[in-house]
Amino acid sequence: MGHLTPFLRLASTLASHGCRVTFIAIHPTVSSAESVHLSALFSNYPQIHPLEFPLIDHFDAMDAKPAHDPFYLHCESIRRSAHLLPPLLTSLSPPLSSFIVDISLASAFLPIANKLNLPTYILFTSSATMLTLFAYLPGLIADDKRIDDVAIPGMQPLPASMIPPALHDSTNLFTKQFIENGRALLQAKAILVNTFESLEADAVSALNGGAVVRGLPPVVAIGPLQQPARPSGRPGHTFPWLDAQPPRSVVYVSFGSRTALSRAQIKELGVGLERSGCRFLWVVKRKIVDREDGEGLEELVSDGLLEWGRGLVVKGWVDQNEVLGHGAVGAFVSHCGWNSVVEAAACGVRVLAWPRGADQRVNASLVERSGLGVWAREWGWDGEEGVEVVWGEEIGQRVRELMGDTHVGESVARVREEALRASGMGGSSYKGLADLIEKWSS
Ligand code: UDP
Ligand code: UDP
Repeated sequence: MGHLTPFLRLASTLASHGCRVTFIAIHPTVSSAESVHLSALFSNYPQIHPLEFPLIDHFDAMDAKPAHDPFYLHCESIRRSAHLLPPLLTSLSPPLSSFIVDISLASAFLPIANKLNLPTYILFTSSATMLTLFAYLPGLIADDKRIDDVAIPGMQPLPASMIPPALHDSTNLFTKQFIENGRALLQAKAILVNTFESLEADAVSALNGGAVVRGLPPVVAIGPLQQPARPSGRPGHTFPWLDAQPPRSVVYVSFGSRTALSRAQIKELGVGLERSGCRFLWVVKRKIVDREDGEGLEELVSDGLLEWGRGLVVKGWVDQNEVLGHGAVGAFVSHCGWNSVVEAAACGVRVLAWPRGADQRVNASLVERSGLGVWAREWGWDGEEGVEVVWGEEIGQRVRELMGDTHVGESVARVREEALRASGMGGSSYKGLADLIEKWSS
């Protein structure tokens, strides 16, 4: 969902600017959340033309690698099915004026689109700061060399501990995709990022000034991207509960669409939320893929917590953007997936950053630097050596401190204003996208 969400938002934004949009949807999907959101896009925006990409499963029982993340295997299958693309693209009438590709498919899809003379753009689904690493790494890597601290020109040094863990293993599927896609950046007409200039001024300027890699296409900040419109009515059960809470009193806790916690950590988090003394809305997740997440809440958290009344514990999808935009929500305990960070910025909700893996430490460092929140640096991430569960007592104390931090309250309000200014009419992100649309329509 971290990749699909910005595409849904970009597609609906382009459609509402009067663009004719074709959305290539991969079938089947890994998670139910993907299927549900794709169907909602197509039914709420009948002007968006769906084009099904029937995936060939390249990983049958013979060569499935259980250690690999199901989303990365899926991504690799899409990449290996790239030969299905030309007939789809050339079947369209009127023909496409441009093609926007997810960064994780870039090296597989760009050469094909370029052969068809189709101007191709990349949507980068993480921060511009992560993009500096993406662009810089291919030039740095000699085969089989371990990645250490990285000094990217124009950027603050990136310690090895902040780099996505999989990148320390050159044989990992993700690492291979990362490097190939990093090289493919040079073949795009421009790279779009769901960020705004004031949040990542150093990265945007290092990328566009040629400091990171020479010859990189323009990097265009187009965020925060807006959520697609939904038909009114039928709010989920979280909202009546939120409506009854005082302004800015609720701590929202969620680790995104694909980060599961261990039983032990779930238990301690429950203790922590109780000890914090704050109201909370907590989304519990036990399995990476939602379709496999069958355990009931009562098996995971204590009865006392469910009956407490100061908190609402849910399992399953909540509309996070709406939750963050609700006036009762005052803080967000987040893994710092990039979409979550940008949503918190746009809604002016302070973040307690608890990165769990991938690009999340890089994003957490931006949360801290921008004034959007604080980063619990000493809490390790999944699989890290010597990392045990984080104890409830400590979690409770951090949450309490963040809720009472007036300094953070002021800086978060500033970040929100900057976010709204960038995406509002005439703002830097608004202009970035408007200039692209103008180019496509001329
Ligand atoms: N999301 C949501 N409800 C959920 C879980 C996730 O709306 O219960 C959305 C969230 O708002 C964000 C996206 O799914 O837009 C997740 O992307 P992110 O980059 O934050 O994290 P990832 O899931 O990729 O780790
Ligand atoms: N990963 C993994 N197994 C793999 C490939 C990747 O566990 O085979 C994990 C790993 O933690 C890596 C992360 O996925 O660091 C990559 O995440 P990325 O930064 O691309 O974020 P996402 O694509 O989920 O938004």
